[in-house]
Amino acid sequence: MARYTEAVCRLCRREGMKLFLKGDRCFSAKCGVERRSYPPGQHGQGRARFSDYGVQLREKQKVKRMYGLLEGQFASTMKRAARMKGRAGENLLVLLERRLDNVVFRMGFATSRAEARQLVRHSHFLVNGRKASIPSMTLRQGDLVTVREKSQKVARISGSLETLEGRSIPQWLETDKDNFAGTVKAMPVREDITMPIQEQLIVELYSR
Ligand code: SF4
Repeated sequence: MARYTEAVCRLCRREGMKLFLKGDRCFSAKCGVERRSYPPGQHGQGRARFSDYGVQLREKQKVKRMYGLLEGQFASTMKRAARMKGRAGENLLVLLERRLDNVVFRMGFATSRAEARQLVRHSHFLVNGRKASIPSMTLRQGDLVTVREKSQKVARISGSLETLEGRSIPQWLETDKDNFAGTVKAMPVREDITMPIQEQLIVELYSR
């Protein structure tokens, strides 16, 4: 599957905020945004001026990069969000949150979404007792995510769970660390997504 393979700290610096793409490093002094809080590249320290389109584009890029999606995947999620009842922007964020790779990350089985995606693709998880290796799978209320028995010794999973105390689990999810399991207690709502996102700008971009 295609994925972004360049230095990810550049993406945070481009968006001018931490997107938390590198696990524990994001909470350390080594964070790229902490060390160089200006956009990457030769003209990164120059003055940036954005048109309306530019502002909308940056917001879309920020969210797309945060969840680690490529353009086509993001656009199809946006289309799906627009077909659903309610506000398209909120639907988009909720759909992104309900992705299996995001849920695995949020439950604490991985330290970043990129790591969660790789672990999912390597078939380390079951959803309701069935093998699940599609990162984009949309979870529902009541779904049970478990680490496969033979995968419970995978250092990245157990290491991530060991540092779980330092991270907060959203209230719509529950993690049973001792049993390598997690439950989707409720559907996420807009208020559960605490990163500064102006989803309306993304809807406006795709409505052009
Ligand atoms: Fe972004 Fe994490 Fe790199 Fe900091 S360390 S710039 S938050 S990916």
